[in-house]
Amino acid sequence: MNIVPNRGAKISVKNGFRGTILEFLRNSLEKGCFDGILIPMRVPADDSYAWVLVRDKPFLDNANPIAPIVSVQGAKALTSLTRKGGGNFNVAAIMKPCDIRASIELSKLKQVNLEKITLISYDCPGTLEMSNYIENPEESEKIFGSLLDGDVWDDKFTKPICQICDNFSFPACDLHFALLGTENGSIYLIPGTEKGENILDDLGIEYSEDLSNWEKKVIELIKKKEKQKAEKFELVKPTVEGFDNLLKTFANCIGCHNCQSACPICYCRQCYFDSEVSKPNSDFILLRTSKRGGISFPLDRIMFHTGRMSHMSLSCVSCGVCTDACPVSIPVADIFSYVADKTQRTFEYKAGNSTEEPLPMREYRFDELLEIKELVKDADGQD
Ligand code: SF4
Ligand code: SF4
Repeated sequence: MNIVPNRGAKISVKNGFRGTILEFLRNSLEKGCFDGILIPMRVPADDSYAWVLVRDKPFLDNANPIAPIVSVQGAKALTSLTRKGGGNFNVAAIMKPCDIRASIELSKLKQVNLEKITLISYDCPGTLEMSNYIENPEESEKIFGSLLDGDVWDDKFTKPICQICDNFSFPACDLHFALLGTENGSIYLIPGTEKGENILDDLGIEYSEDLSNWEKKVIELIKKKEKQKAEKFELVKPTVEGFDNLLKTFANCIGCHNCQSACPICYCRQCYFDSEVSKPNSDFILLRTSKRGGISFPLDRIMFHTGRMSHMSLSCVSCGVCTDACPVSIPVADIFSYVADKTQRTFEYKAGNSTEEPLPMREYRFDELLEIKELVKDADGQD
């Protein structure tokens, strides 16, 4: 959670959290604050969700700002919308905190342009596993509805990665709907930036409510999630650390690269691992085989996963879409989150936490050179 302003606007809940957020979006569209709204909408077959850019108010009747699943990561939708620049239209994107954090990472990597985008977020209760949802969408909607409306957000039905997510509230967004710990049928709307403040001003919404009760609830839940995360990572550690363990963990991998295609952070337009350059010829494969005695196909599975980790673990936002996308149920997100947690701690960086904080690999810091000099000196015994 970022540093929260002290005050927010109190909004009466009508037709549940989702109905209240939709009403706000309708008003802001009507009053011209935005030219369009990017929002999840149930697909016609009723068994999944798609991101839809809405310009006409009646279309919002079929939208669901708090969707129970992630079919496509929100940052991917924003990449498609803004990859050629910000354009002339003001668009509001209503997204989960991990969608927003991925969008911020991508904006630093020049893949998303946030100039004309207003990022609106909410306290996220987590999402359901895609495979479970597809089996019974109606039942899953009921489960998610009772989870969202419950007094305590019981995360036992949500994805494992959501159960350990301690970034479920107040990302670096322009406006945030505070759903936790509010009382008497109200929620809070909190501006996170000047852009957000201007929108509330344009809508004539005053934000003078004290947020301490909400903050207390969020901090309580963060503590619970941190504990769950530490326990989970103890279990993940032996499956990731060491080459043989990694080999066992990815033994079932069929090399489909779905995890990479679904990941918002894997943005390269031509991935080395999908290129012809990465494919060895038969003589080379046979040479490798003679050294090891045998070789399994598809080739280079571990190289693919470790390569991906080294490319993107500094920006991984633990959104979990890679696990959802894996056809052989490898817990890819648990593994990548574990590695990301370590990498990001090493660089004292938190992916998507702030638009200001530079990406560590893109920042030149002279003192890091001195650190390397000391390391080399220690190893060689000479300057
Ligand atoms: S590696 Fe997985 S969890 Fe991390 S950002 Fe990519 S899809 Fe999300
Ligand atoms: S989605 Fe699963 S099977 Fe496909 S490459 Fe990724 S880990 Fe392997």
